[in-house]
Amino acid sequence: MRYSGLQVLWQGLTGNKGWTPAWRDPDPKPEYDIIIIGGGGHGLATAYYLAREHGLTNIAVLEKGYLGGGNIGRNTTIVRANYGLPGNSEFYSHSLKLWEGLEQDLNYNVMHSQRGIINLFHSDGQRDAYARRGNAMINQGDDAILLDREGVRRMVPYLDFEQTRFPIFGGLYHPRGGTARHDAVAWGFARGADQRGVDLIQNCEVTGIDIENGAVRGVQTTRGAIRARKVGMVVAGRSSQVAAMAGLRLPIESHVLQAFVTEGLKPTIDNVITYGMGHFYISQSDKGGLVFGGDLDFYASYAARGNLPMAEHVVEAGMTLMPMIGKATMLRSWGGIMDMSSDGSPIIDKTHIEGLYFNGGWCYGGFKAVPGSGHCFAHLMATDQPHPAATRHRLDRFTTGRGLMDEEATGSQHNLH
Ligand SMILES: Cc1cc2nc3c(=O)[nH]c(=O)nc-3n(C[C@H](O)[C@H](O)[C@H](O)COP(=O)(O)OP(=O)(O)OC[C@H]3O[C@@H](n4cnc5c(N)ncnc54)[C@H](O)[C@@H]3O)c2cc1C
Repeated sequence: MRYSGLQVLWQGLTGNKGWTPAWRDPDPKPEYDIIIIGGGGHGLATAYYLAREHGLTNIAVLEKGYLGGGNIGRNTTIVRANYGLPGNSEFYSHSLKLWEGLEQDLNYNVMHSQRGIINLFHSDGQRDAYARRGNAMINQGDDAILLDREGVRRMVPYLDFEQTRFPIFGGLYHPRGGTARHDAVAWGFARGADQRGVDLIQNCEVTGIDIENGAVRGVQTTRGAIRARKVGMVVAGRSSQVAAMAGLRLPIESHVLQAFVTEGLKPTIDNVITYGMGHFYISQSDKGGLVFGGDLDFYASYAARGNLPMAEHVVEAGMTLMPMIGKATMLRSWGGIMDMSSDGSPIIDKTHIEGLYFNGGWCYGGFKAVPGSGHCFAHLMATDQPHPAATRHRLDRFTTGRGLMDEEATGSQHNLH
């Protein structure tokens, strides 16, 4: 079924009885050409682009829970291409261009809203760093505008500009940045992959990876063994555990990141704002809730809920920046398990085991990467060659030390920055 305004009107007039399920619920076949482990944003996007760009359709996505139940449905939905380093710069630029045509491509409303992002700075040093980053973005072909304090004030007058400790000096504005509805992204890719013949198999946990003579042969699952010539591991916060099934030790730690949402309010914040002197970023959802987050809980954990000290820190930072939010009631908070690589940048690569591929280490920036990651990982799995936009995301950079992409200059343990 093709979705359109006319379809919505027709279904509305005929009692909404004609809608069909967005994807099938097949049983696993004994064998596929390609298995993708993980039905999150990256896994579903990979399957979609394998089918759409490379004509490969004998594919299964194996998901241990339900599609979109992981981080893809837990994030704060920020989409941007404001990275500074070669490697990340071209990759995220590629991803943002895919976002810009995604709804037409998927025939699905993912509510992509390019409402603009303002990264605030509060010192001369931060201004210099943002000016450098903005120039890198412009060189890459993306958009960046350095705002002074009055420029920021014109756009977001409700901030506390006179904070005694960290007054606002200005901001780096990225007009093409914004937000999207996170779980619609999973659903849109799932529907698009299913329509092209990909089997999306839920409640199917991979418990082992079969390897013979240095080549992958398939996987063991809670729904039986499934053979495949190629297997892609795309499991975000569970990367280390799944890779260990193939005897691999990854440069990744799993950490919890929290998010928070208030009650629905009238339109208040019409862009995304990040605070430069504390862990805090905020936007307003289309339902009206203020959606905000901060940083990791700062210790490794597989608990999908966060600790109270970080909740307190985030709320304090929010109150410092925009005291008005103290009047809103917070409805919920939750956590997601992040796959933190040690240079803070992702990995899209083959492993030393023939037919076994790895995609992960997205840290807290993996939502904006979903279309780009799926596109590049599908290219790698189909052709065995890295996509031109993802040539630097190699696994061996952590053993050779060459090509590390330490975007935030935080040293060898990005997760402790
Ligand atoms: C609170 C929070 C806020 C965030 N905010 C942003 C943001 O604003 N912008 C941004 O760009 N990024 C953000 N992120 C990061 C982003 O959400 C993640 O980097 C990205 O979603 C991870 O990729 P994914 O969607 O494939 O992961 P997931 O959705 O977690 O998918 C992985 C899937 O693998 C499955 N799986 C695991 N093990 C197995 C197994 N053994 N067998 C089968 N299936 C398995 C899991 O069940 C899961 O569904 C945020 C993350 C969190 C938690």
